[in-house]
Amino acid sequence: MKLLENKRGLVVGVANAHSIAWGISQACHQQGAELAFTYLNESLEKRVRPLAESLNSTLIIPCDVAQDSSLQQMREQVEKWGPLDFVVHAVAFAQREDLDGRFIDTSREGFRIALDVSAYSLVALAKACEGLLRPGGSIVALTYYGAQKVMRNYNVMGVAKAALEASVRYLAADMGPQNIRVNAISAGPIKTLSAKGIRDFNDMLRHAGEKAPLQRNVECMEVGKSAVYLLSDLSSGVTGEVHYVDCGYNLMGM
Ligand code: NAD
Repeated sequence: MKLLENKRGLVVGVANAHSIAWGISQACHQQGAELAFTYLNESLEKRVRPLAESLNSTLIIPCDVAQDSSLQQMREQVEKWGPLDFVVHAVAFAQREDLDGRFIDTSREGFRIALDVSAYSLVALAKACEGLLRPGGSIVALTYYGAQKVMRNYNVMGVAKAALEASVRYLAADMGPQNIRVNAISAGPIKTLSAKGIRDFNDMLRHAGEKAPLQRNVECMEVGKSAVYLLSDLSSGVTGEVHYVDCGYNLMGM
């Protein structure tokens, strides 16, 4: 029996074949899950639709998590599709100028956008999916160690990830009585579309690969396999956690 057989999940955050959400989708599909996908806009639809169809997905719909009306339309379409067992939130955005230089220079609007799209969106998505998720359901969000420690150029996104991690705990407390779990995976750096927006990302990647106990960087499919654990009944007693999938980087001091 596969770990996600007879389970149906919604994946929010595939942009292309390099997306962490795509690694998670492939791992979930291998374990028997039936998946629905969202895409941000028409230009990304061109990339997301063929990927989703390659996993036999029948529900591929637009969703801008910064728009309540878009979340509401997404909810209505998912509701027609049927009940959910899990939701993957792999969404983040900050203005390019706020991922460079000094955090102190972040504008009010830049701060608002980063926190809205990267952190509040988890709360809004959880709310939109409440009632669609069956008891035993699981929500997984993606975070980064920059929530806990200062990472050069990560800046406002570190603050947004700190808010996301705290939101995971508060949502876990709210949804626990319905037997719905909420966790986060803190992934090590991976070269994706979003990562390209961070200045000197290649330095980050090289440093993490050298310093991590496993002496390399993590791969998308490894994040995917850990997500399968958190999305499946294997982790039925785990909620409100931030699970590091970073080749051990976070535990190293000097
Ligand atoms: P990615 O660019 O492939 O994915 C980011 C996704 O966010 C895209 O699909 C984009 O369309 C979506 N998005 C942005 N604004 C949106 C909006 N308003 N509404 C709906 N979707 C929106 O990059 P990724 O690195 O796979 O990022 C996925 C998640 O993983 C993010 O939360 C990111 O912070 C996190 N993460 C990434 C790394 C890394 O090194 N790449 C490490 C740790 C955590």
